[in-house]
Amino acid sequence: MSIFARLLALLAATVIAAQPVAAQSVLRDAETEHFLNDIAEPLVEAAGLEPGNVDIVLLHDPSINAFVAGGQAVYIHSGLIDAADTAEEVQGVIAHELGHITGGHILRYGEGAAAASKISLLSMLAGVGAVLAGAGDAAMGIMMAGQQAALGKFLAFTRTQESSADAAGAQYLSDAGISGRGSLAFFGKLLNQEYRYARNQDDDATFSRTHPLSGDRIASLRLAYEADPAWDAAANAEHQRRFERIKAKLSGYLAKPSETLRDYPESDQTIPALYARAYAYHKNARVDRALDAADALLVADPQDPYFLELKGQVLLESGRPDEALDPLRRATALTNAEPLIAAMFGHALIATEDKVHFEEAESVLRAAVGRDRRNPFAWYQLGVVHAARGDMPRARLASAEQQVMNGQYALAIRSAGFAEAALPTGSPDWLRAQDIGFQARALLEQQCEAQNGGRECQSAR
Ligand SMILES: [Zn+2]
Repeated sequence: MSIFARLLALLAATVIAAQPVAAQSVLRDAETEHFLNDIAEPLVEAAGLEPGNVDIVLLHDPSINAFVAGGQAVYIHSGLIDAADTAEEVQGVIAHELGHITGGHILRYGEGAAAASKISLLSMLAGVGAVLAGAGDAAMGIMMAGQQAALGKFLAFTRTQESSADAAGAQYLSDAGISGRGSLAFFGKLLNQEYRYARNQDDDATFSRTHPLSGDRIASLRLAYEADPAWDAAANAEHQRRFERIKAKLSGYLAKPSETLRDYPESDQTIPALYARAYAYHKNARVDRALDAADALLVADPQDPYFLELKGQVLLESGRPDEALDPLRRATALTNAEPLIAAMFGHALIATEDKVHFEEAESVLRAAVGRDRRNPFAWYQLGVVHAARGDMPRARLASAEQQVMNGQYALAIRSAGFAEAALPTGSPDWLRAQDIGFQARALLEQQCEAQNGGRECQSAR
């Protein structure tokens, strides 16, 4: 192992050890996030909210749930995507959740309490990249997810709030010209599930526990939907096509490979099936089969950035970073440097351990964090590349960015202090180091106060 590889492994181990295991993690994937934002957009507009201000966040949790928390964020469990059969079913859930946001049904929690929680974010699969992962687009809300998600299990809306969210959701679907069929199908499915599991009180939180469901609710929804002009509107075929890909991909990521291969057998040569199997094989370390599936996808569409991303990811995580460069470089270019994809490309450039690639790695990673600051994984990579080039002040600045996002405030204060002392006074990076120092001190103080039941913490200053 080269010194460089050892350094990388050591840094990785430090970060992993510092992150407590969270029951739920935010699941980040560029394609999934773009899909969820696209199907939510017309509903967010119909709700009179700013599309850029509402985050749709996917949580890794097999139970069927969705909830709103922390202002304007809708959290969707991976189990809900798995239980849904159409994009319209997911849109029905999002419309209902937006109804809770506009109805003001969300409690606001103290920022201090939120700051005290952390979240571990998955990239997807085994390997350094998967464990370090990245935080997100999801603006401020995302860092609160760990705690809010736990709260989502206990907070149940009242029947009045449910009716009001149903009515608002129906209106948003109508305004967006989306049929209520999907919503009705999904709630009907949940009601059946509720009957089936009614005796199992220990069952994990489900949508119907946080959103009390009843036959009455469904009956009045049906009345509203059937009377709506959008009832007979055709489903959006493009959304459905993308939904089936996402669902297959998540199955490949999350389910046991044996289950994925049962649900998507070799005889199935459709795009979703190839997608699911590529991840299942990759998880099983059957690299050749994973690459065969990725190549078959690329035959179907050589310009699909997510197929290129998949191929690059399999190669990178199988220890073949040199071969990963071409597909990841193309995926980055095709998506105009989508931050999660660009961060993976930066990772691959660094993983080659070839100094020739470090300058490109730096520019790619800088672009990625420029568009999506809340990506601790990209900051980590940037720190590695600065360190490898001997630029310790900027390496420490990048560490400070990453540490503050991971909730390691004391470490962040030290890293930012080092950077501030070593960088040219008044330069943009020097100012940034100062800002992070202030931010980390404030967050540390809030965290301490939250732990002390609201009493002030002089010691944290
Ligand atoms: Zn509800």
